[in-house]
Amino acid sequence: MGLTEYRKKRRFTVTTEPAGSARPSKPAALLYVIQKHRASHLHYDFRLEWNGVLLSWAVPKGPSLDPSVKRMAMQVEDHPVEYGHFEGVIPEGEYGGGTVMVWDIGTWVPETADVTAALKQGDLKFTLKGKKLRGSWVLVRLRPRRAELRPSWLLIKHRDRYASDAAVVDGQPRSVLSKRLLVDIARDGGGDLEKAASGDPPDVPV
Ligand code: MN
Repeated sequence: MGLTEYRKKRRFTVTTEPAGSARPSKPAALLYVIQKHRASHLHYDFRLEWNGVLLSWAVPKGPSLDPSVKRMAMQVEDHPVEYGHFEGVIPEGEYGGGTVMVWDIGTWVPETADVTAALKQGDLKFTLKGKKLRGSWVLVRLRPRRAELRPSWLLIKHRDRYASDAAVVDGQPRSVLSKRLLVDIARDGGGDLEKAASGDPPDVPV
């Protein structure tokens, strides 16, 4: 997809998000990141580095460690690799206005020899090596509905020793980079505190 759509949606004189550069070089390890984003709706942006950009899916409910739970993942525009370390406030009124937290970060390893073919097929199996999410996962594309701009996928945990019924989303609500909650990030970035706080769980573990 490239970064054309990503850039078209944003005003880099207003937002502190990176404009980004496509990186065609082959990195030693592929970045994996989940950004918790309290925009008009709370969602978790699931991103996998591939071909110099971050393939991106918006997951409204966030990931589940329970293999019997399928989480809807709407594919969105590719993001720059630098975006994976963005944590802060996007000004209200701008695209995606609200608070962004780096909720999990690490690397990913494809469980297939041909990622491009797997993406085309709509069945991508991979291993996550994050701080919160680990082990084997799959993204499965649903049959596109008519007039749907971008396909929906399901994000599912495979059965392995990292599968669990623990509530990872509400149980581990802090940033992996700064240990901050959404409300802390909003406070530091001059954002909307009440809106950000509505994305933090009511009972935050210390
Ligand atoms: Mn988002």
